[in-house]
Amino acid sequence: MNTIHDLIIIGSGPAGLAAAIYAQRAELDSIVIEKSGMSGGQVLTTYEVDNYPGLPGANGFDLGMNFRSHADTLGAVFVEDEVQSLEKTTAAQVAGAEEETELYQAAEISATDISADEAGKLVHKVVGAKGVYYARTVILATGATHRKLGVPGEEKLTGSGVSYCATCDGAFFKNKTTAVIGGGDVALEDAIFLARMCEKVYVIHRRDEFRGAKSLQKKLMSMDNVEIIWDSVVEEIQGQWQVSGLKLRQVKTEEERILPVQGVFVAVGISPNSGEFEGTVDMERGYIKAGEDGKTSEPGIFAAGDIRTKQLRQIITAAADGANAVTSVERYLTED
Ligand code: FAD
Repeated sequence: MNTIHDLIIIGSGPAGLAAAIYAQRAELDSIVIEKSGMSGGQVLTTYEVDNYPGLPGANGFDLGMNFRSHADTLGAVFVEDEVQSLEKTTAAQVAGAEEETELYQAAEISATDISADEAGKLVHKVVGAKGVYYARTVILATGATHRKLGVPGEEKLTGSGVSYCATCDGAFFKNKTTAVIGGGDVALEDAIFLARMCEKVYVIHRRDEFRGAKSLQKKLMSMDNVEIIWDSVVEEIQGQWQVSGLKLRQVKTEEERILPVQGVFVAVGISPNSGEFEGTVDMERGYIKAGEDGKTSEPGIFAAGDIRTKQLRQIITAAADGANAVTSVERYLTED
């Protein structure tokens, strides 16, 4: 017989892991599906996290591991699989389906008897690369991926002067010289944020005008320690152990130059990991439309963390989302 869980959490970054912790404490029959061999999400790649309350200067990898071990301690069940789509079904159809997967048995999850009363009720079918899973509710917590420049030196120096998050890492560059790469709202906001603490901030943009909001442009241009380098792209990030400079190319003249900087903030966009859910829930620029309660356009489907429409994408807001989404799940299950 196929199992119908109370809840399936997709993704085990801070949002998914906080949701797993709250789900265990709420005694929901839940599983967490994670595609990577390790939980923690983007936090794992963060050298130092200095803005999570109570844990100043925490190592990102350790923090991710601690989130996971907390969920493990409470008995959360993890399944390694990559979710590919979501479908709607009913309990009666699930009972008749022959799609029982080996992963279910491996995870030793007990089957739920389907009563006549719940036979026609909405069930969500989660289709993974290795198996299918069923639940009355689903929390989408698949996060986002920061776009990279793809230039030499970027990968090697990530965490050693190359950052994708000014709010997270700006404080490490107090009184130093930094560069922001990009021309959208995030790049302009990052540059304004950094200019308040850095000695000098260069903004490097491949075009001759910004895409970002006019109000941000005005604010940025009024700051004495900001210099904008137009029509230029980064060819290489230089430095042995730490960033020491950027090799720039002027796209109109093809002229190359070395710009000495100690920090580089790449703000060329974030891609939400939401492609699998297109057409299932309403989205805005790829982000799943959901408020603080995590409710999406579909009954029983909730979104938490970087994947949802929100103001600030950070560990603390992702964890808070996970907790809020489980509260919404509990309400949905009891109202149902
Ligand atoms: P994620 O952390 O992105 O986790 C999503 C998880 O879902 C991943 O484990 C992924 O493997 C999994 N997944 C994705 N698709 C699927 C699928 N189809 N099936 C199954 N699993 C899937 N924030 C701070 O607060 N402080 C900092 O100092 C800080 N520094 C940062 C530094 C860097 C370099 C980066 C990239 C981010 C930083 N952030 C920081 C931001 C913070 O890491 C994110 O806001 C937070 O991790 C978002 O959590 P999440 O759970 O929503 O998503």
